[in-house]
Amino acid sequence: AKQEGRGRLRFYEARMGVQVRERRQIEHDLRHAVERGELRVVYQPQTRIDSGEAVGFEALLRWHHPERGTVPPNLFIPIAEETGSILAIGEWVLRETCREAASWDKPLRIAVNVSAVQLHAPGFAELVHEILFATGLSPARLELEITETALIRDLPRALTTLRRIKALGVRIAMDDFGTGYSSLSNLRAFPFDKIKIDASFTRSVDSSEQAATIVRTVLGLGRGLGLPVLAEGVETSAELAFLGAEACQEAQGYLIGRPGPIGGFQHLTAEPDAA
Ligand code: C2E
Ligand code: CA
Ligand code: CA
Ligand code: CA
Repeated sequence: AKQEGRGRLRFYEARMGVQVRERRQIEHDLRHAVERGELRVVYQPQTRIDSGEAVGFEALLRWHHPERGTVPPNLFIPIAEETGSILAIGEWVLRETCREAASWDKPLRIAVNVSAVQLHAPGFAELVHEILFATGLSPARLELEITETALIRDLPRALTTLRRIKALGVRIAMDDFGTGYSSLSNLRAFPFDKIKIDASFTRSVDSSEQAATIVRTVLGLGRGLGLPVLAEGVETSAELAFLGAEACQEAQGYLIGRPGPIGGFQHLTAEPDAA
């Protein structure tokens, strides 16, 4: 049994070796991903539930690695955060999306995910200011999506930065609401303009009374605080019907539109008569 244990350990170590090497390779490749032009942004529409009209898009990052193919953000963003590459990558995403949105006929919003590392980096508010100035995008059209977990690293610092950003006229959304900690006190203290309900709750509103209760509670909270609520991950018309009946304002998900190149959404960003 002892020998078997050692064998298993060696096997485990060998596998770990591969994982460590692979991780180092990804870390290394990530450092060059921006300059090599391997990053792309895809856009997912966000709509008003009552009228069905598009109000904006969320920008979602894609990494097209020359050998690995498309690496999903859930895999490479945590690595980029640990190594600090997220600073260059996040700046690229912000600049790229603001430039893109500034070219649309319709003044739709662009929502951009901001990592904890970016939020806590010195000069982040100034960077947002500089990018808005350089791209000419109206600040009111930019929305930064921040998770609760991004705030708690250093609450006072996060608050100072978000107030500076808010003073520019930029909107701030609380992302993945309900999946982190201390959400209620953070909602009260921080200058949020919107709450995004995480897809894990939306997915189950039509099948689980518990999930339905959580979503109703978040919607009540939004009403009480005067904050509109967007439900993410809407995949079925039953989910959308539930959200509409509960007066949820906005929705995003595969039912409405999958993330894709902005060219596929020209009918949403262009004036009908401008073509
Ligand atoms: P998120 O901010 O919660 O983004 C929503 C995720 O749900 C996206 O995954 C989107 O493609 C996916 N999604 C949208 N509608 C549906 C649906 O109806 N059903 C299901 N099952 N999924 C749906 P994606 O693009 O793989 O991104 C994963 C996460 O990576 C994001 O979660 C966000 O945390 C992070 N991320 C993506 N782009 C960026 C970025 O530019 N910067 C940073 N810091 N993080 C990013
Ligand atoms: Ca998001
Ligand atoms: Ca989410
Ligand atoms: Ca469902």
